[in-house]
Amino acid sequence: MPETVELLPKNRIDKLLSDSFELRVSNISLSIDTAKKALVLSQEIKYLNGEAYANSYLAFFYMIITKHQQAIPHIDLAINYFESVGDNLGLAFNYNTYGSIFYKTEDYHYGLKYLLKAYHIYNELGDVLKQSRTLKSIGAIYEFFKDYSKAKKTYLQCIELSTSIDDFNGISNALNPLSGLYLKEHNVKKATEAIEKSILLKQKSKDERGVGFALYGRAKVFDYLNKHEEAEANYLKSLEIHQNLSEHVGVIMTLNKLGKMYLRIGKNDLAKKRLEECIKEGDRSHHNLVIYKAYHSLYELAKKENRTTEALNYLEKHIEFKDKVQKRDVEHVLKSVQSLAKIEMLKNEAKWQKEKTEEVQKKNKELDNFVYKVSHDLRGPISSLLGLYNVVKLDVTDGKSIEYFDMYHEQIQRLESIILDFIDLTRLKESTLNNTPIDFKEIIDQCIRAYNYLPNFENIAISTNIDKAVEFCSDKSSVNSILQNLIENAIKYSNPRKEAFIKIDVSENDSNDQIILTIEDNGAGIHEEYKSKIFDMFFRANNNVQGSGLGLYILKTAVDRINGEVLLTSEYKKGSTFKVILPKTNLN
Ligand code: ADP
Repeated sequence: MPETVELLPKNRIDKLLSDSFELRVSNISLSIDTAKKALVLSQEIKYLNGEAYANSYLAFFYMIITKHQQAIPHIDLAINYFESVGDNLGLAFNYNTYGSIFYKTEDYHYGLKYLLKAYHIYNELGDVLKQSRTLKSIGAIYEFFKDYSKAKKTYLQCIELSTSIDDFNGISNALNPLSGLYLKEHNVKKATEAIEKSILLKQKSKDERGVGFALYGRAKVFDYLNKHEEAEANYLKSLEIHQNLSEHVGVIMTLNKLGKMYLRIGKNDLAKKRLEECIKEGDRSHHNLVIYKAYHSLYELAKKENRTTEALNYLEKHIEFKDKVQKRDVEHVLKSVQSLAKIEMLKNEAKWQKEKTEEVQKKNKELDNFVYKVSHDLRGPISSLLGLYNVVKLDVTDGKSIEYFDMYHEQIQRLESIILDFIDLTRLKESTLNNTPIDFKEIIDQCIRAYNYLPNFENIAISTNIDKAVEFCSDKSSVNSILQNLIENAIKYSNPRKEAFIKIDVSENDSNDQIILTIEDNGAGIHEEYKSKIFDMFFRANNNVQGSGLGLYILKTAVDRINGEVLLTSEYKKGSTFKVILPKTNLN
Protein backbone atom coordinates (compact mmCIF):
# COMPACT_ATOMS: atom_id res chain seq x y z
CA MET A 1 0.00 0.00 0.00
CA PRO A 2 1.41 3.41 -0.92
CA GLU A 3 0.41 4.67 2.53
CA THR A 4 2.89 2.33 4.29
CA VAL A 5 5.60 3.03 1.77
CA GLU A 6 5.28 6.68 2.55
CA LEU A 7 5.15 6.20 6.28
CA LEU A 8 8.38 4.27 6.44
CA PRO A 9 10.76 6.99 5.25
CA LYS A 10 8.96 9.47 7.53
CA ASN A 11 9.59 7.18 10.47
CA ARG A 12 13.18 6.91 9.45
CA ILE A 13 13.55 10.66 9.31
CA ASP A 14 11.94 11.05 12.73
CA LYS A 15 14.37 8.50 14.12
CA LEU A 16 17.32 10.30 12.55
CA LEU A 17 16.14 13.54 14.07
CA SER A 18 15.78 12.18 17.58
CA ASP A 19 19.19 10.48 17.28
CA SER A 20 20.80 13.70 16.17
CA PHE A 21 19.35 15.49 19.17
CA GLU A 22 20.55 12.83 21.61
CA LEU A 23 24.02 12.82 20.13
CA ARG A 24 24.59 16.56 20.61
CA VAL A 25 25.98 16.04 24.10
CA SER A 26 28.59 13.46 23.18
CA ASN A 27 29.32 14.09 19.51
CA ILE A 28 28.06 17.33 18.06
CA SER A 29 29.56 16.88 14.60
CA LEU A 30 27.80 13.56 14.24
CA SER A 31 24.61 15.32 15.35
CA ILE A 32 25.05 17.80 12.52
CA ASP A 33 25.69 15.09 9.93
CA THR A 34 22.64 13.15 11.07
CA ALA A 35 20.40 16.20 10.96
CA LYS A 36 21.70 17.04 7.49
CA LYS A 37 20.79 13.56 6.35
CA ALA A 38 17.30 13.97 7.77
CA LEU A 39 17.00 17.29 5.95
CA VAL A 40 17.91 15.85 2.56
CA LEU A 41 15.57 12.87 2.99
CA SER A 42 12.70 15.14 4.06
CA GLN A 43 13.21 17.33 1.03
CA GLU A 44 13.22 14.29 -1.25
CA ILE A 45 9.84 13.05 -0.10
CA LYS A 46 8.46 16.54 0.64
CA TYR A 47 8.05 15.77 4.34
CA LEU A 48 7.68 19.41 5.38
CA ASN A 49 7.50 18.81 9.10
CA GLY A 50 10.66 16.70 9.03
CA GLU A 51 12.38 19.35 6.99
CA ALA A 52 11.42 22.09 9.45
CA TYR A 53 12.65 20.06 12.43
CA ALA A 54 15.88 19.19 10.62
CA ASN A 55 16.40 22.92 10.01
CA SER A 56 15.60 23.71 13.65
CA TYR A 57 18.07 21.14 14.95
CA LEU A 58 20.81 22.14 12.55
CA ALA A 59 20.45 25.76 13.66
CA PHE A 60 20.55 24.65 17.28
CA PHE A 61 23.70 22.56 16.77
CA TYR A 62 25.44 25.36 14.86
CA MET A 63 24.53 27.69 17.68
CA ILE A 64 26.16 25.31 20.18
CA ILE A 65 29.42 25.35 18.28
CA THR A 66 29.11 29.13 17.76
CA LYS A 67 28.74 28.94 13.98
CA HIS A 68 26.05 31.55 14.15
CA GLN A 69 26.07 32.65 10.53
CA GLN A 70 25.39 29.09 9.49
CA ALA A 71 22.58 28.73 12.00
CA ILE A 72 20.51 31.74 10.98
CA PRO A 73 19.24 30.65 7.52
CA HIS A 74 18.06 27.35 9.01
CA ILE A 75 16.17 29.16 11.77
CA ASP A 76 14.47 31.45 9.26
CA LEU A 77 13.32 28.53 7.13
CA ALA A 78 12.01 26.69 10.16
CA ILE A 79 10.22 29.74 11.56
CA ASN A 80 8.55 30.37 8.19
CA TYR A 81 7.16 26.86 8.13
CA PHE A 82 6.07 26.75 11.77
CA GLU A 83 4.35 30.08 11.41
CA SER A 84 2.42 28.88 8.35
CA VAL A 85 1.13 25.79 10.17
CA GLY A 86 0.76 27.46 13.57
CA ASP A 87 3.15 25.07 15.35
CA ASN A 88 3.95 27.01 18.51
CA LEU A 89 6.31 24.43 19.92
CA GLY A 90 8.40 24.52 16.76
CA LEU A 91 8.35 28.32 16.84
CA ALA A 92 9.43 28.47 20.46
CA PHE A 93 12.33 26.11 19.81
CA ASN A 94 13.63 28.44 17.12
CA TYR A 95 12.97 31.62 19.10
CA ASN A 96 15.05 30.05 21.79
CA THR A 97 17.92 29.37 19.41
CA TYR A 98 17.66 32.89 18.00
CA GLY A 99 17.68 34.34 21.49
CA SER A 100 20.74 32.30 22.44
CA ILE A 101 22.60 33.43 19.32
CA PHE A 102 21.81 37.04 20.01
CA TYR A 103 22.92 36.91 23.57
CA LYS A 104 26.04 34.93 22.77
CA THR A 105 26.98 37.59 20.24
CA GLU A 106 26.37 40.16 22.96
CA ASP A 107 23.18 41.51 21.42
CA TYR A 108 21.36 41.23 24.68
CA HIS A 109 18.24 43.15 23.82
CA TYR A 110 17.24 40.95 20.92
CA GLY A 111 18.41 37.98 22.93
CA LEU A 112 16.06 38.79 25.74
CA LYS A 113 13.23 39.55 23.31
CA TYR A 114 13.36 36.16 21.62
CA LEU A 115 14.01 34.22 24.79
CA LEU A 116 11.00 35.78 26.44
CA LYS A 117 8.89 34.96 23.38
CA ALA A 118 9.96 31.34 23.65
CA TYR A 119 9.48 31.31 27.41
CA HIS A 120 5.88 32.53 27.08
CA ILE A 121 5.03 29.78 24.63
CA TYR A 122 6.61 27.08 26.80
CA ASN A 123 4.82 28.49 29.77
CA GLU A 124 1.49 28.37 27.97
CA LEU A 125 2.12 24.84 26.80
CA GLY A 126 3.29 23.82 30.27
CA ASP A 127 6.61 22.53 28.90
CA VAL A 128 8.68 22.70 32.07
CA LEU A 129 11.87 21.33 30.56
CA LYS A 130 12.11 23.92 27.84
CA GLN A 131 10.90 26.64 30.17
CA SER A 132 13.79 25.92 32.47
CA ARG A 133 16.33 25.90 29.63
CA THR A 134 15.09 29.25 28.37
CA LEU A 135 15.24 30.66 31.87
CA LYS A 136 18.88 29.69 32.07
CA SER A 137 19.68 31.92 29.08
CA ILE A 138 17.53 34.73 30.47
CA GLY A 139 19.55 34.49 33.68
CA ALA A 140 22.76 34.97 31.67
CA ILE A 141 21.35 38.17 30.17
CA TYR A 142 20.48 39.51 33.60
CA GLU A 143 24.08 38.84 34.53
CA PHE A 144 25.22 40.92 31.59
CA PHE A 145 23.03 43.75 32.77
CA LYS A 146 24.68 43.31 36.15
CA ASP A 147 21.34 42.59 37.74
CA TYR A 148 22.82 39.82 39.84
CA SER A 149 19.91 39.38 42.18
CA LYS A 150 17.50 38.80 39.29
CA ALA A 151 20.02 36.48 37.65
CA LYS A 152 20.33 34.47 40.85
CA LYS A 153 16.58 34.27 41.27
CA THR A 154 16.24 33.09 37.67
CA TYR A 155 18.87 30.36 38.06
CA LEU A 156 17.27 29.16 41.28
CA GLN A 157 13.87 29.05 39.58
CA CYS A 158 15.49 27.10 36.79
CA ILE A 159 16.88 24.53 39.23
CA GLU A 160 13.52 24.21 40.91
CA LEU A 161 11.74 23.58 37.60
CA SER A 162 14.36 21.12 36.40
CA THR A 163 14.31 19.28 39.72
CA SER A 164 10.54 18.88 39.49
CA ILE A 165 10.95 16.85 36.29
CA ASP A 166 14.31 15.19 37.11
CA ASP A 167 16.06 17.07 34.32
CA PHE A 168 19.62 16.72 35.61
CA ASN A 169 21.06 18.45 32.62
CA GLY A 170 18.86 21.48 33.31
CA ILE A 171 19.88 21.49 36.98
CA SER A 172 23.58 21.36 36.25
CA ASN A 173 23.32 23.99 33.51
CA ALA A 174 21.98 26.46 36.06
CA LEU A 175 24.35 25.38 38.85
CA ASN A 176 27.40 26.52 36.85
CA PRO A 177 26.61 30.22 36.62
CA LEU A 178 25.01 30.11 40.07
CA SER A 179 28.34 29.06 41.51
CA GLY A 180 29.94 32.09 39.82
CA LEU A 181 27.33 34.38 41.39
CA TYR A 182 27.97 32.92 44.86
CA LEU A 183 31.64 33.61 44.32
CA LYS A 184 30.81 37.24 43.52
CA GLU A 185 29.02 37.34 46.89
CA HIS A 186 32.18 35.81 48.48
CA ASN A 187 30.12 32.84 49.52
CA VAL A 188 32.77 30.20 48.80
CA LYS A 189 30.90 27.42 50.55
CA LYS A 190 27.83 27.71 48.37
CA ALA A 191 29.92 28.33 45.26
CA THR A 192 31.83 25.10 45.88
CA GLU A 193 28.70 23.10 46.64
CA ALA A 194 27.04 24.29 43.45
CA ILE A 195 29.97 23.62 41.16
CA GLU A 196 30.76 20.20 42.64
CA LYS A 197 27.17 19.13 42.18
CA SER A 198 27.23 20.41 38.63
CA ILE A 199 30.41 18.46 37.78
CA LEU A 200 28.90 15.29 39.19
CA LEU A 201 25.72 15.69 37.18
CA LYS A 202 27.56 16.56 33.99
CA GLN A 203 29.82 13.53 34.35
CA LYS A 204 26.86 11.31 35.06
CA SER A 205 25.06 12.44 31.94
CA LYS A 206 28.31 12.19 29.94
CA ASP A 207 27.95 15.78 28.85
CA GLU A 208 31.56 16.57 27.92
CA ARG A 209 30.89 20.20 27.01
CA GLY A 210 29.10 20.63 30.29
CA VAL A 211 32.01 19.04 32.18
CA GLY A 212 34.35 21.48 30.41
CA PHE A 213 32.38 24.48 31.65
CA ALA A 214 31.90 23.03 35.12
CA LEU A 215 35.65 22.45 35.52
CA TYR A 216 36.21 26.05 34.51
CA GLY A 217 33.81 27.03 37.29
CA ARG A 218 35.64 24.87 39.80
CA ALA A 219 38.98 26.37 38.70
CA LYS A 220 37.58 29.82 39.40
CA VAL A 221 36.71 28.81 42.96
CA PHE A 222 40.26 27.47 43.54
CA ASP A 223 41.66 30.61 41.93
CA TYR A 224 39.61 32.72 44.32
CA LEU A 225 40.98 30.72 47.26
CA ASN A 226 44.54 31.16 45.92
CA LYS A 227 44.83 27.39 45.49
CA HIS A 228 46.75 27.92 42.30
CA GLU A 229 47.83 24.38 41.56
CA GLU A 230 44.32 23.03 41.77
CA ALA A 231 43.05 25.98 39.80
CA GLU A 232 45.65 25.43 37.08
CA ALA A 233 44.82 21.73 36.80
CA ASN A 234 41.13 22.47 36.41
CA TYR A 235 41.64 25.32 33.94
CA LEU A 236 43.90 23.09 31.83
CA LYS A 237 41.49 20.18 31.86
CA SER A 238 38.65 22.50 30.92
CA LEU A 239 40.78 23.99 28.13
CA GLU A 240 41.55 20.57 26.75
CA ILE A 241 37.90 19.59 26.66
CA HIS A 242 36.88 22.85 25.00
CA GLN A 243 39.62 22.54 22.42
CA ASN A 244 38.64 18.96 21.61
CA LEU A 245 35.04 19.98 21.14
CA SER A 246 35.90 23.20 19.28
CA GLU A 247 34.00 25.05 21.98
CA HIS A 248 35.37 28.42 21.03
CA VAL A 249 33.88 30.56 23.77
CA GLY A 250 35.01 28.06 26.38
CA VAL A 251 38.54 28.15 24.97
CA ILE A 252 39.00 31.91 25.09
CA MET A 253 37.35 32.29 28.49
CA THR A 254 39.68 29.69 29.98
CA LEU A 255 42.81 31.07 28.29
CA ASN A 256 42.06 34.53 29.66
CA LYS A 257 41.56 33.34 33.23
CA LEU A 258 44.57 31.09 33.08
CA GLY A 259 46.77 33.92 31.76
CA LYS A 260 45.53 36.28 34.41
CA MET A 261 46.25 33.80 37.17
CA TYR A 262 49.78 33.15 35.86
CA LEU A 263 50.39 36.88 35.84
CA ARG A 264 49.26 37.17 39.44
CA ILE A 265 51.53 34.38 40.66
CA GLY A 266 54.52 35.63 38.64
CA LYS A 267 54.57 32.95 35.95
CA ASN A 268 55.11 35.65 33.37
CA ASP A 269 56.09 33.58 30.37
CA LEU A 270 53.14 31.28 30.75
CA ALA A 271 50.91 34.27 31.29
CA LYS A 272 52.12 35.92 28.08
CA LYS A 273 51.67 32.73 26.10
CA ARG A 274 48.11 32.09 27.30
CA LEU A 275 47.01 35.71 26.95
CA GLU A 276 48.34 35.99 23.42
CA GLU A 277 46.60 32.75 22.51
CA CYS A 278 43.42 34.13 24.00
CA ILE A 279 43.63 37.30 21.91
CA LYS A 280 44.35 35.34 18.74
CA GLU A 281 41.37 33.04 19.31
CA GLY A 282 39.13 35.86 20.48
CA ASP A 283 39.92 37.94 17.42
CA ARG A 284 38.53 35.21 15.21
CA SER A 285 35.11 35.48 16.77
CA HIS A 286 35.28 39.18 17.74
CA HIS A 287 34.97 38.35 21.40
CA ASN A 288 35.90 41.86 22.42
CA LEU A 289 34.81 41.47 26.01
CA VAL A 290 37.49 38.87 26.69
CA ILE A 291 40.05 40.48 24.38
CA TYR A 292 40.14 43.82 26.13
CA LYS A 293 40.61 42.08 29.48
CA ALA A 294 43.46 40.00 28.05
CA TYR A 295 45.12 43.14 26.67
CA HIS A 296 44.97 44.72 30.07
CA SER A 297 46.74 41.74 31.62
CA LEU A 298 49.40 41.94 28.88
CA TYR A 299 49.84 45.64 29.62
CA GLU A 300 50.33 44.88 33.33
CA LEU A 301 52.81 42.21 32.44
CA ALA A 302 54.91 44.44 30.12
CA LYS A 303 54.85 47.20 32.74
CA LYS A 304 56.11 44.77 35.36
CA GLU A 305 58.96 43.78 33.09
CA ASN A 306 59.75 47.39 32.22
CA ARG A 307 58.92 46.94 28.55
CA THR A 308 57.48 50.44 28.37
CA THR A 309 56.76 50.78 24.66
CA GLU A 310 55.08 47.41 24.55
CA ALA A 311 53.13 48.28 27.66
CA LEU A 312 51.86 51.42 26.00
CA ASN A 313 50.89 49.49 22.89
CA TYR A 314 48.93 46.99 24.96
CA LEU A 315 47.28 49.79 26.86
CA GLU A 316 46.21 51.40 23.61
CA LYS A 317 44.81 48.09 22.39
CA HIS A 318 43.07 47.57 25.71
CA ILE A 319 41.43 51.00 25.42
CA GLU A 320 40.48 50.42 21.79
CA PHE A 321 38.69 47.16 22.54
CA LYS A 322 37.21 48.43 25.75
CA ASP A 323 35.80 51.34 23.78
CA LYS A 324 34.17 48.92 21.37
CA VAL A 325 32.61 46.99 24.21
CA GLN A 326 31.53 50.12 26.01
CA LYS A 327 30.04 51.57 22.87
CA ARG A 328 28.00 48.45 22.46
CA ASP A 329 27.09 48.46 26.14
CA VAL A 330 26.08 52.07 25.89
CA GLU A 331 23.89 51.20 22.91
CA HIS A 332 22.19 48.49 24.95
CA VAL A 333 21.73 50.79 27.87
CA LEU A 334 20.52 53.55 25.58
CA LYS A 335 17.95 51.24 24.08
CA SER A 336 16.68 50.39 27.55
CA VAL A 337 16.76 54.04 28.52
CA GLN A 338 14.87 54.91 25.36
CA SER A 339 12.10 52.47 26.10
CA LEU A 340 12.05 53.55 29.71
CA ALA A 341 11.95 57.18 28.59
CA LYS A 342 9.03 56.38 26.32
CA ILE A 343 7.12 54.85 29.22
CA GLU A 344 8.05 57.83 31.39
CA MET A 345 6.89 60.22 28.68
CA LEU A 346 3.53 58.49 28.42
CA LYS A 347 3.17 58.54 32.18
CA ASN A 348 4.04 62.26 32.30
CA GLU A 349 1.65 63.02 29.49
CA ALA A 350 -1.16 61.29 31.33
CA LYS A 351 -0.26 63.20 34.49
CA TRP A 352 -0.16 66.47 32.59
CA GLN A 353 -3.54 65.75 31.02
CA LYS A 354 -4.98 64.97 34.40
CA GLU A 355 -3.62 68.16 35.89
CA LYS A 356 -4.98 70.15 32.96
CA THR A 357 -8.42 68.59 33.31
CA GLU A 358 -8.41 69.27 37.03
CA GLU A 359 -7.39 72.86 36.40
CA VAL A 360 -10.14 73.33 33.81
CA GLN A 361 -12.67 71.75 36.17
CA LYS A 362 -11.54 74.08 38.93
CA LYS A 363 -11.80 77.13 36.66
CA ASN A 364 -15.27 76.03 35.50
CA LYS A 365 -16.41 75.71 39.06
CA GLU A 366 -15.07 79.14 39.91
CA LEU A 367 -16.89 80.57 36.90
CA ASP A 368 -20.13 78.85 37.87
CA ASN A 369 -19.84 80.28 41.38
CA PHE A 370 -19.20 83.70 39.99
CA VAL A 371 -22.20 83.53 37.65
CA TYR A 372 -24.39 82.28 40.47
CA LYS A 373 -23.32 85.08 42.79
CA VAL A 374 -23.71 87.81 40.17
CA SER A 375 -27.12 86.50 39.13
CA HIS A 376 -28.28 86.46 42.71
CA ASP A 377 -27.00 89.95 43.38
CA LEU A 378 -28.73 91.24 40.26
CA ARG A 379 -32.08 89.76 41.15
CA GLY A 380 -32.73 92.37 43.90
CA PRO A 381 -32.29 95.49 41.77
CA ILE A 382 -34.20 93.88 38.88
CA SER A 383 -37.18 93.07 41.11
CA SER A 384 -37.10 96.68 42.31
CA LEU A 385 -37.11 97.93 38.73
CA LEU A 386 -40.06 95.69 37.88
CA GLY A 387 -41.91 96.92 40.97
CA LEU A 388 -41.10 100.50 40.08
CA TYR A 389 -42.71 99.99 36.70
CA ASN A 390 -46.05 99.26 38.36
CA VAL A 391 -45.76 102.47 40.38
CA VAL A 392 -44.80 104.43 37.28
CA LYS A 393 -47.86 103.12 35.45
CA LEU A 394 -50.11 104.49 38.15
CA ASP A 395 -48.56 107.95 38.20
CA VAL A 396 -47.45 108.66 34.65
CA THR A 397 -50.22 109.63 32.28
CA ASP A 398 -48.27 110.97 29.35
CA GLY A 399 -48.72 108.57 26.39
CA LYS A 400 -45.19 108.97 25.00
CA SER A 401 -43.60 108.40 28.42
CA ILE A 402 -45.68 105.27 28.95
CA GLU A 403 -44.52 103.98 25.60
CA TYR A 404 -40.87 104.41 26.66
CA PHE A 405 -41.51 102.88 30.07
CA ASP A 406 -43.09 99.86 28.39
CA MET A 407 -39.94 99.42 26.34
CA TYR A 408 -37.82 99.65 29.51
CA HIS A 409 -40.09 97.14 31.14
CA GLU A 410 -39.74 94.66 28.34
CA GLN A 411 -35.97 94.82 28.48
CA ILE A 412 -35.95 94.41 32.24
CA GLN A 413 -38.20 91.38 31.93
CA ARG A 414 -35.70 89.95 29.46
CA LEU A 415 -32.89 90.62 31.85
CA GLU A 416 -34.82 88.91 34.61
CA SER A 417 -35.45 85.83 32.53
CA ILE A 418 -31.74 85.58 31.70
CA ILE A 419 -30.80 85.96 35.35
CA LEU A 420 -33.34 83.33 36.41
CA ASP A 421 -32.01 80.92 33.77
CA PHE A 422 -28.48 81.46 34.99
CA ILE A 423 -29.53 80.74 38.52
CA ASP A 424 -31.30 77.58 37.34
CA LEU A 425 -28.26 76.45 35.40
CA THR A 426 -25.71 76.94 38.16
CA ARG A 427 -28.03 75.40 40.71
CA LEU A 428 -28.45 72.37 38.48
CA LYS A 429 -24.72 71.99 37.96
CA GLU A 430 -23.89 72.42 41.61
CA SER A 431 -26.50 70.17 43.14
CA THR A 432 -25.72 66.55 43.85
CA LEU A 433 -27.81 63.88 42.17
CA ASN A 434 -30.64 62.75 44.32
CA ASN A 435 -32.50 59.59 43.35
CA THR A 436 -36.19 59.86 44.20
CA PRO A 437 -39.45 58.49 42.75
CA ILE A 438 -40.68 60.81 40.01
CA ASP A 439 -44.32 61.85 39.89
CA PHE A 440 -44.62 62.96 36.27
CA LYS A 441 -48.19 64.18 36.63
CA GLU A 442 -47.31 66.52 39.46
CA ILE A 443 -44.27 68.00 37.66
CA ILE A 444 -46.05 68.44 34.34
CA ASP A 445 -49.11 70.10 35.94
CA GLN A 446 -46.86 72.50 37.85
CA CYS A 447 -44.96 73.43 34.70
CA ILE A 448 -48.13 74.09 32.73
CA ARG A 449 -49.49 76.23 35.54
CA ALA A 450 -46.25 78.19 35.81
CA TYR A 451 -46.53 79.37 32.21
CA ASN A 452 -50.16 80.32 32.11
CA TYR A 453 -49.18 83.99 31.97
CA LEU A 454 -47.54 83.54 28.56
CA PRO A 455 -49.36 85.11 25.58
CA ASN A 456 -51.50 82.67 23.61
CA PHE A 457 -51.60 80.21 26.53
CA GLU A 458 -55.39 80.30 26.59
CA ASN A 459 -55.64 79.24 22.97
CA ILE A 460 -53.46 76.16 23.19
CA ALA A 461 -54.99 72.71 23.62
CA ILE A 462 -52.57 70.99 25.98
CA SER A 463 -53.05 67.24 26.43
CA THR A 464 -51.09 65.00 28.70
CA ASN A 465 -50.82 61.25 28.52
CA ILE A 466 -48.88 59.45 31.22
CA ASP A 467 -48.61 55.70 30.98
CA LYS A 468 -50.00 54.34 34.26
CA ALA A 469 -47.39 51.63 34.48
CA VAL A 470 -44.51 54.09 34.50
CA GLU A 471 -42.38 53.80 37.57
CA PHE A 472 -39.26 55.84 37.61
CA CYS A 473 -36.67 57.02 40.06
CA SER A 474 -34.29 59.80 39.14
CA ASP A 475 -32.95 63.22 40.07
CA LYS A 476 -36.08 65.32 40.47
CA SER A 477 -34.55 68.74 39.74
CA SER A 478 -33.04 67.43 36.48
CA VAL A 479 -36.35 65.92 35.34
CA ASN A 480 -38.05 69.16 36.34
CA SER A 481 -35.65 71.27 34.26
CA ILE A 482 -36.19 69.06 31.25
CA LEU A 483 -39.97 69.24 31.31
CA GLN A 484 -40.06 72.90 32.30
CA ASN A 485 -37.94 74.04 29.35
CA LEU A 486 -39.70 71.86 26.80
CA ILE A 487 -43.18 72.89 27.93
CA GLU A 488 -42.20 76.58 28.11
CA ASN A 489 -40.83 76.50 24.56
CA ALA A 490 -43.80 74.62 23.19
CA ILE A 491 -46.05 77.34 24.57
CA LYS A 492 -43.73 80.22 23.59
CA TYR A 493 -43.28 79.07 20.03
CA SER A 494 -46.87 78.06 19.41
CA ASN A 495 -48.61 79.49 16.40
CA PRO A 496 -51.36 81.96 17.39
CA ARG A 497 -52.96 81.77 13.97
CA LYS A 498 -53.87 78.11 13.96
CA GLU A 499 -55.48 75.71 16.37
CA ALA A 500 -52.47 75.26 18.53
CA PHE A 501 -51.87 72.04 20.45
CA ILE A 502 -49.23 70.56 22.68
CA LYS A 503 -49.16 66.81 23.28
CA ILE A 504 -47.17 65.58 26.25
CA ASP A 505 -46.57 61.87 26.52
CA VAL A 506 -44.76 59.79 29.11
CA SER A 507 -44.24 56.08 28.49
CA GLU A 508 -41.81 53.21 28.70
CA ASN A 509 -40.02 51.49 25.85
CA ASP A 510 -40.83 47.86 24.98
CA SER A 511 -38.08 46.37 27.09
CA ASN A 512 -39.15 48.50 30.06
CA ASP A 513 -35.68 49.88 30.67
CA GLN A 514 -36.21 53.41 29.37
CA ILE A 515 -38.64 56.27 29.97
CA ILE A 516 -39.62 58.25 26.91
CA LEU A 517 -40.88 61.82 27.26
CA THR A 518 -42.40 63.28 24.12
CA ILE A 519 -43.46 66.91 23.78
CA GLU A 520 -45.06 67.62 20.44
CA ASP A 521 -46.35 70.94 19.20
CA ASN A 522 -47.69 72.38 15.94
CA GLY A 523 -45.93 75.70 16.44
CA ALA A 524 -43.22 77.68 14.64
CA GLY A 525 -40.98 74.72 13.92
CA ILE A 526 -37.24 74.97 13.47
CA HIS A 527 -35.26 75.59 10.30
CA GLU A 528 -33.12 72.70 9.18
CA GLU A 529 -29.94 74.80 9.42
CA TYR A 530 -30.53 75.65 13.11
CA LYS A 531 -31.38 72.18 14.35
CA SER A 532 -27.83 71.30 15.29
CA LYS A 533 -27.29 74.60 17.11
CA ILE A 534 -30.35 75.13 19.25
CA PHE A 535 -28.81 73.28 22.24
CA ASP A 536 -25.83 75.66 22.28
CA MET A 537 -25.53 78.28 24.98
CA PHE A 538 -27.20 81.59 24.01
CA PHE A 539 -28.27 80.32 20.61
CA ARG A 540 -31.59 81.76 19.49
CA ALA A 541 -33.38 81.07 16.25
CA ASN A 542 -36.45 83.19 16.71
CA ASN A 543 -36.27 86.88 17.50
CA ASN A 544 -40.02 87.43 17.40
CA VAL A 545 -40.30 85.78 20.78
CA GLN A 546 -38.37 86.79 23.90
CA GLY A 547 -35.87 84.47 25.46
CA SER A 548 -32.38 84.10 26.88
CA GLY A 549 -31.11 81.38 24.54
CA LEU A 550 -30.34 79.29 27.63
CA GLY A 551 -33.43 77.07 27.91
CA LEU A 552 -32.34 74.19 25.68
CA TYR A 553 -28.77 74.45 26.98
CA ILE A 554 -30.13 73.92 30.49
CA LEU A 555 -32.26 71.04 29.21
CA LYS A 556 -29.22 69.38 27.62
CA THR A 557 -27.22 69.81 30.82
CA ALA A 558 -30.02 68.16 32.79
CA VAL A 559 -30.39 65.28 30.29
CA ASP A 560 -26.63 64.60 30.38
CA ARG A 561 -26.62 64.59 34.17
CA ILE A 562 -29.03 61.69 34.28
CA ASN A 563 -27.42 59.84 31.35
CA GLY A 564 -30.27 60.49 28.96
CA GLU A 565 -30.55 61.49 25.35
CA VAL A 566 -32.58 64.11 23.52
CA LEU A 567 -33.85 63.81 19.95
CA LEU A 568 -35.50 66.48 17.83
CA THR A 569 -37.76 66.26 14.81
CA SER A 570 -39.10 69.49 13.48
CA GLU A 571 -40.43 71.07 10.34
CA TYR A 572 -40.27 74.80 9.91
CA LYS A 573 -43.71 76.41 10.28
CA LYS A 574 -45.31 73.03 10.97
CA GLY A 575 -44.22 72.03 14.43
CA SER A 576 -41.62 70.28 16.58
CA THR A 577 -41.31 67.10 18.57
CA PHE A 578 -38.72 66.74 21.31
CA LYS A 579 -38.15 63.23 22.54
CA VAL A 580 -36.14 62.64 25.73
CA ILE A 581 -35.00 59.10 26.50
CA LEU A 582 -34.02 58.40 30.08
CA PRO A 583 -32.48 55.09 31.19
CA LYS A 584 -34.11 53.39 34.15
CA THR A 585 -30.78 52.44 35.67
CA ASN A 586 -29.91 53.78 39.05
CA LEU A 587 -27.92 57.00 39.07
CA ASN A 588 -24.46 57.54 40.70
P1 ADP B 1 -34.92 80.68 24.02
O1 ADP B 1 -36.23 80.01 23.97
O2 ADP B 1 -34.71 81.43 25.24
O3 ADP B 1 -34.58 81.40 22.79
P2 ADP B 1 -33.88 78.01 24.03
O4 ADP B 1 -32.53 77.54 24.26
O5 ADP B 1 -34.97 77.49 24.86
O6 ADP B 1 -33.79 79.56 24.09
O7 ADP B 1 -34.23 77.71 22.52
C1 ADP B 1 -33.32 77.99 21.50
C2 ADP B 1 -34.01 78.24 20.20
O8 ADP B 1 -34.66 77.05 19.75
C3 ADP B 1 -35.14 79.23 20.30
O9 ADP B 1 -34.67 80.54 20.10
C4 ADP B 1 -36.09 78.78 19.23
O10 ADP B 1 -35.75 79.38 18.01
C5 ADP B 1 -35.87 77.31 19.09
N1 ADP B 1 -36.95 76.50 19.73
C6 ADP B 1 -36.89 75.87 20.90
N2 ADP B 1 -38.01 75.16 21.16
C7 ADP B 1 -38.82 75.38 20.10
C8 ADP B 1 -40.15 74.95 19.76
N3 ADP B 1 -40.87 74.14 20.56
N4 ADP B 1 -40.64 75.36 18.57
C9 ADP B 1 -39.92 76.15 17.76
N5 ADP B 1 -38.69 76.60 18.02
C10 ADP B 1 -38.15 76.23 19.19
